[in-house]
Amino acid sequence: MKPAPFDYVVAASPREAVQYLADVEDASAKIIAGGQSLMPLLALRLARPSLLVDINRIPGLETIERISETTIRIGTLVRHRMLCAQTNSPLLHEAARWIGHSAIRTRGTIGGSLAHADPAAELPIVAVAAGMVIEVMGPSTQRTVDAQDFFIGTLENSLADDEMIVSVISPLPERWGFAEYARRHGDFGLVTVAAAEVQGEVKIAVGGVGSKPVRMLESEGLVNDSVTLSGQLIDQAARAAAASVEPNGDFHGSARYRIGLVEELVRRSLRQLGSGQADSEVDWS
Ligand SMILES: Cc1cc2nc3c(=O)[nH]c(=O)nc-3n(C[C@H](O)[C@H](O)[C@H](O)COP(=O)(O)OP(=O)(O)OC[C@H]3O[C@@H](n4cnc5c(N)ncnc54)[C@H](O)[C@@H]3O)c2cc1C
Repeated sequence: MKPAPFDYVVAASPREAVQYLADVEDASAKIIAGGQSLMPLLALRLARPSLLVDINRIPGLETIERISETTIRIGTLVRHRMLCAQTNSPLLHEAARWIGHSAIRTRGTIGGSLAHADPAAELPIVAVAAGMVIEVMGPSTQRTVDAQDFFIGTLENSLADDEMIVSVISPLPERWGFAEYARRHGDFGLVTVAAAEVQGEVKIAVGGVGSKPVRMLESEGLVNDSVTLSGQLIDQAARAAAASVEPNGDFHGSARYRIGLVEELVRRSLRQLGSGQADSEVDWS
């Protein structure tokens, strides 16, 4: 199928981009970044915006900046490929290399992935586990949203129609773990787990078991209340995670199968967090 007709503008600045969004009367304008999620939706006519606002030529949005010893700011147009290449955050490096195939990683952006809010996508899960903060601009406003509050449901975020993501502030976790199971290389994960320790507190987020990344609060409590991360504690935390999720089954895997994956992948990500070793040495780049 071909997309429904739309107008197209190229924005020169974030302020101009959000003004374009605000000026469209039917509030159906959409930003286009890498186009890796939006273009398929347009082609299937699942999205029918009257205007596309291209932000790809806005200067300054494609950089990763160290803003303190423990924090980086990532421009919304930073491509997945650049996250693979950077060395500030090994967690982001690991997560980004699991995204799709190299062509998708070359075009797709962190802002697009967060805004698209696919519950199985790697970056939203990492954003919640690492406690990222999303910097948002509207025609007359600027605000920040904790990743935890940004995701509302499947493909639903908390942006207003005339707001855009400008950048993301990401703490650099002291320790982290990441584990994913996908049927084939490049597929979205059936279940994905990110665990991150920031300022001594571990958060664990799981994708593929709900309409948005889900925090494993009981498992986090077990880990944070304990001085050492023993094998026994990791097993206990993994079982608590499995007991807390209620995923739907589909043709990719039954609910029971996904629950089993949650247990195993939480176990692996916590082992990795404890050891500092990558779970998989496979190079997908
Ligand atoms: C075959 C295939 C496999 C894929 N596999 C994976 C995978 O395994 N894991 C994964 O995570 N993703 C996967 N993706 C999706 C890919 O990561 C996309 O790049 C990403 O989801 C969206 O980023 P984008 O820059 O392409 O956004 P776009 O497609 O341009 O936009 C997506 C949505 O975000 C909005 N948007 C974009 N930028 C902003 C902004 N700055 N502010 C506000 N709204 C914005 C757009 O309006 C649109 O609604 C896959 C895609 C394909 C086609």
